[in-house]
Amino acid sequence: MSTDLHVHGLGHIGPPHTIERLWPYVEAAQKQGLRELGFAEHDEYLYGLDFKVFEELRRLSPIEIKRGLEVSFRPDRCDLETVASRPWDYLIASVHDIGAWGFDSPGGEAFYADWDMDELYSVYFELVARAASSGFFQIIGHLDLIKLYGHRPRRPVVELAEPALRVVARAGVAVEVNTAGLYKLVGEIYPSVELLERCFELNIPVTVSSDAHSPEEVGRSREKAIRLLKRIGYTKLVTFRERRREVIALE
Ligand SMILES: [Zn+2]
Ligand SMILES: [Zn+2]
Repeated sequence: MSTDLHVHGLGHIGPPHTIERLWPYVEAAQKQGLRELGFAEHDEYLYGLDFKVFEELRRLSPIEIKRGLEVSFRPDRCDLETVASRPWDYLIASVHDIGAWGFDSPGGEAFYADWDMDELYSVYFELVARAASSGFFQIIGHLDLIKLYGHRPRRPVVELAEPALRVVARAGVAVEVNTAGLYKLVGEIYPSVELLERCFELNIPVTVSSDAHSPEEVGRSREKAIRLLKRIGYTKLVTFRERRREVIALE
């Protein structure tokens, strides 16, 4: 079943959260032939999300609508319980910060010069592991976002990510195959082929997403993600309903 579980209906602008704002995404998804669309706004906009809008959208939409949230994971956050207490279908954990450094924010690239890449990748994946083991999340967002400007570690990335991947596998958390990386400097899907191959060996389930911030981006390069997954050996995707995992066809 064709899904896109990581879409930002409010972009980087934020509330108001209205049917008028979200509807073009539903239309775009339908045009792309998707059967399911999952909104996952940035959690900084949580204050403005209206669950009645999700209910209304579900009533109006010809395709399935899911209620997700992309949560910026920081180990010092103490509000995860409150965030998780709303009626989500799933929560996506995304590491966007190393300490006070928002590495994917505008200007974030400058600070890579301060780091040894192997160490940076290790620190990044340790945060991914902590997010996975926290018990709050169903999906790890853009698993290797740290590569977004094209900085590569010296050691094989699979070695650096291995401890985190084992934690993800043990926790039963899914990894998203996120096509937004194709449109960043790095120019490749998150996660890389090597990491996805290791995910497959570890039986880690996967979702597919565009990380769209505008309706035109919904479902973009989805066929590339599907081809990649099939080549690696995946035959199924997963989706979530009220945080319970459901297995669906890879298409
Ligand atoms: Zn993100
Ligand atoms: Zn996102």
